[in-house]
Amino acid sequence: MRGSTAADWRAFLDRCRRRCLDRWLEFLLPRACARCGKAVAPDRVWCGACAGALPRLPTGVGPRSPASLATWVAEVAYEGEWEQWIHRFKYPRRGLAGLDARPDAIVSALAADAAARLPEPRPPVVVPVPIHPLRLRARGFHPAGVLAEAVARTLAARCVHGALVTTRPVASQTGLDRAARRRNVHEAFAARPGFAAPRQVVLVDDVVTTGATLAACARALRRAGARRIHAVCVARKL
Ligand SMILES: [Zn+2]
Repeated sequence: MRGSTAADWRAFLDRCRRRCLDRWLEFLLPRACARCGKAVAPDRVWCGACAGALPRLPTGVGPRSPASLATWVAEVAYEGEWEQWIHRFKYPRRGLAGLDARPDAIVSALAADAAARLPEPRPPVVVPVPIHPLRLRARGFHPAGVLAEAVARTLAARCVHGALVTTRPVASQTGLDRAARRRNVHEAFAARPGFAAPRQVVLVDDVVTTGATLAACARALRRAGARRIHAVCVARKL
């Protein structure tokens, strides 16, 4: 991992920990479909019928996709069971309940499914929306980084964790209107010095609302040389 940043190493260690845990759980418990409970192969989250019936949102759905994005895929609406799984993925429970690998597997599978819907040719680099170091320390892991790994595997692309950095802490976007969200993330992201973006890049985040964060990150990637920026998100607040 020459030229790796602390963010790359942290993501690498986090990935090792999660894979290790996952292998143990697969050994201890047979894998069941997360929607109907039927037995499924160990590398599957849903059975064929449930996978085919996922309530996928159309590409670029919702009020105005940020003009700066070439494609915008959000897999499902942020509501009901999906909202619960995403919440459990982002805020793992403490103690034994925290060993449940399903939130991670389900949310990663949604991200992978969304990535598979990107148009050809597939971009060679995947970049997660960055997390501020203080928030990372409080949370212990970087949710968008975990999802970016799943997206990169699907696209056979390279995941560059530290490509974007936060230039200042960003207050939560919850409860802000569209204009306030845009102001909140204005100039809050930058490409790491020395990161030369390829022409096409995929940005990854967990939940998208107005797309203000994605647009701000896309701006930073464009300054680093990217020309066509696609976004993959697990869910969209409608
Ligand atoms: Zn099923």
